[in-house]
Amino acid sequence: MWKITVEIAGEANFWKSKNLYVIVSRSTAKREQVIGILIVMGIFTNKIGIDLGTANILVFVPRKGIVLNEPSVVAIAEEDKRIVAVGAEAKNMVGKTPEAIVAYRPMKDGVIADYRITEAMLRYYLKKSLSVFNPFKPDVLVSVPAGVTSTERRAVVEAAVKAGARNAYVVKEPILSAIGAGIPIQEPTGHMIIDIGGGTTDVAVISLGGIVTSTSVKYGGSKLDQSIIDYVKKNFNLAIGDKTAEDIKINIGSAVPLDEEKQMTVKGRDFVSGLPRSIELGSNEVLKAINKDLREMVRAVKEVLQETPPELSSDIIEKGMTMSGGSSMLPNLTELMRRRTGVKARLAKDPLYCVARGTGMALEHLDVYKRSITTKR
Ligand code: ADP
Ligand code: MG
Repeated sequence: MWKITVEIAGEANFWKSKNLYVIVSRSTAKREQVIGILIVMGIFTNKIGIDLGTANILVFVPRKGIVLNEPSVVAIAEEDKRIVAVGAEAKNMVGKTPEAIVAYRPMKDGVIADYRITEAMLRYYLKKSLSVFNPFKPDVLVSVPAGVTSTERRAVVEAAVKAGARNAYVVKEPILSAIGAGIPIQEPTGHMIIDIGGGTTDVAVISLGGIVTSTSVKYGGSKLDQSIIDYVKKNFNLAIGDKTAEDIKINIGSAVPLDEEKQMTVKGRDFVSGLPRSIELGSNEVLKAINKDLREMVRAVKEVLQETPPELSSDIIEKGMTMSGGSSMLPNLTELMRRRTGVKARLAKDPLYCVARGTGMALEHLDVYKRSITTKR
């Protein structure tokens, strides 16, 4: 984005294109002279999209892409409930500071529980992604879970304005996810988007820019990790951490049984002796650990399919379902969805970035998506 400002004193000549402003300045009546001020805005920006995910918060700036990607963690001092740190810094602090600081995931389960914290987080991300030289307040578009009430949506708009936004827009996450996945949501055609993130699985059927049917269940990547931890504890008497469980899932996990399993050596701490020990784990064993969670994800998809009006169902059968969110990258999850529902499923390009990209695309084409933008100020 380039904005060039040159002033003409007296009669201001003002020339403007989409991204370029030129105002030419005259110091005397006769002699035209450019005195002015050239504010080159190329390195600055005034449009910011924020994906408030349950696991990661991403900040997207049109034409720049993702400028920030940090864990959705806030560190709070237990004593006075003060917000001590946000994002990566907050995650690093946990367990390493002497005072009682607790890590808090405010977007846990896809619910924005505390608006004081939402505001603090938005302020932090706006500050971090805006240039200090930029005198202009940004237009901010924030994703919210599909299930939030209109009161909650207004509260997020308020929080964004308080945090420094000029205009604040709020759009439901499945809509952004679909836009970011390249789905033409404005068409009078049914499209199904399945977003599996860290905390939730969100399923929605979208047509004419709106959500027709949707559901959200509290099953996501973190739940899969937890199930792996529980399985290894129960079957091997071995304690493993969150990070190890996530590594197991990503490295050898599969949503359907494999003929040629992948293997991994897993290190942990023996529950009885307290000493370090390692075990060998295979893909099919990991599947055993996460199977019940996968069933819940499938159940959510089936539920939405069953509630979809027949006309839109036939569109979905024809076009297939689109999957986004980090956990949709679990190997063979699209195949599992196809087997269980009979409808083909495809993985969106860059599943982790669909919502963030969607915020940028919506910001750049506010007029096109105005029907889907639920709150504006
Ligand atoms: P959210 O939008 O809720 O913040 P994300 O879409 O950022 O969530 O996805 C985060 C989740 O994706 C984490 O649980 C992470 O373990 C999982 N994930 C990331 N990469 C993979 C992968 N290759 N396979 C399986 N799960 C993955
Ligand atoms: Mg997400």
